[in-house]
Amino acid sequence: MFIILGERERNIEQSRDELYCPNCNATRAFKRMRIGSYFTLFFIPLFETRRIKDYVECLHCKLQFNPDAVNSDPPSLAYRAVTAARSDLESGTAVEQVIDKLAKAMTTRELAKQFVDSAAGAARRKCKACNLTYILIVENCNCCERQLAAE
Ligand SMILES: [Zn+2]
Ligand SMILES: [Zn+2]
Repeated sequence: MFIILGERERNIEQSRDELYCPNCNATRAFKRMRIGSYFTLFFIPLFETRRIKDYVECLHCKLQFNPDAVNSDPPSLAYRAVTAARSDLESGTAVEQVIDKLAKAMTTRELAKQFVDSAAGAARRKCKACNLTYILIVENCNCCERQLAAE
């Protein structure tokens, strides 16, 4: 009889946590995982010989993240406002209309304008007929459907 020594990679769950998943855009249950290399004796892992990688996995969408990239805090209100404004702009809504929409949710119109301006960037297209402005990737005015010229 001889002793069988070896090494084997194992994927071990360390703990579970509630974290904010950037993919689901919601607080989800996550498992904290560690991949390590283990010393084995007769195929039974005895101790970790080498730590390979830590990661966290969202139990809902199954995406894996670097543990440093995810924490329990939802993104700030400002971050969400800018992200929502950006997706409205990209879907073809005019800058002025996005400001109107955001102004309803914010304390001042000036603040809404600042958020939308930073989400839109400086390069714009304008519909002269409607006096509305759009980000560059939008090709037609969503009000009169005319093709937009770059400013
Ligand atoms: Zn998720
Ligand atoms: Zn127009």
